[in-house]
Amino acid sequence: MLMGDEMQEDILQKAFESLWDIMEMEEAILQNKPVKSMLQDPQRQSESADQEGFLPDFSAVIRSVTGSISTGDADLLQDEAGTSAVEEAYSLIEESRRQEREKVHREKEQERKSHREKVEKLPEYVASCRTLEEIAWKVSECTRCQLCETRKRAVPGNGVVNPKVMIIGEAPGAEEDASGEPFVGRAGKYLDTWMGAIKLFRGRDLFIGNIIKCRPPGNRDPLPDEQKACIPFLRRQIRILRPKAILCVGRIAAQILTRQDVGIGRMRGPVYRYEGIPLIVTYHPSAVLRNPESYRAPVWEDLQKLSAIIRDAGS
Ligand code: SF4
Repeated sequence: MLMGDEMQEDILQKAFESLWDIMEMEEAILQNKPVKSMLQDPQRQSESADQEGFLPDFSAVIRSVTGSISTGDADLLQDEAGTSAVEEAYSLIEESRRQEREKVHREKEQERKSHREKVEKLPEYVASCRTLEEIAWKVSECTRCQLCETRKRAVPGNGVVNPKVMIIGEAPGAEEDASGEPFVGRAGKYLDTWMGAIKLFRGRDLFIGNIIKCRPPGNRDPLPDEQKACIPFLRRQIRILRPKAILCVGRIAAQILTRQDVGIGRMRGPVYRYEGIPLIVTYHPSAVLRNPESYRAPVWEDLQKLSAIIRDAGS
């Protein structure tokens, strides 16, 4: 019986897919990973090369194998020629898998290298900024950590130069991510009432920003490499702004700027120094909104301390 080229290619395609699948499973077993049959997965064909389950284009292998089989004789696929075709296919697939792994490895290595270079060069890159606008522009185009992929807008922070207080939070939330402005929404309005209570106002006395300039997905804590990548922006902002005092709101900001690895309850109280600037630690407004009975009184103590520092600084 004569077999058409298309049918022959179809059989080979399926045979190669099965071989590929078996080799994937062998590899998964060797690496102690969960084994799943990717042939059953309808998404498989659309998955990209760097994802698990990638299925290569076998057309080149098929062309090479069918070229060695005389057209049309189905029996050839089952006996000598068939056997050698499968063996050849096996080794071609093995080679193709090896090349694919090397390519993915090279790309990942290159990605890691360029990320390392970017992060290492960031302090110099940011040090060249002379104004807050320059920093804001560099933040808005920054791709130094993975958060650039999920942000809607970067949030560099805003306020006046030489502020009485620089307020530093952890990272933008959903509303900040959408607007590009720091501390908007309910927590931001609540923060305004705190400042109003000690006669400090946005647009006149404050600069408000965050340690991390792009929103972590789901408001998770920023990862150490994200903190490391982003902190030079904040350090440069502080140097340009020279605030009279810094108020850290929330655990992450406080831990990074005071270099302590304890809970915020234990960090509150002392007046720290950041490059000679007095620094006070308090709870984040969102935490106080969630638990006003526990946190309102300590925040008020912290604000009074902050107010006294500003007064002593001669404002
Ligand atoms: Fe760049 Fe910071 Fe945004 Fe990461 S979080 S992309 S380091 S600006």
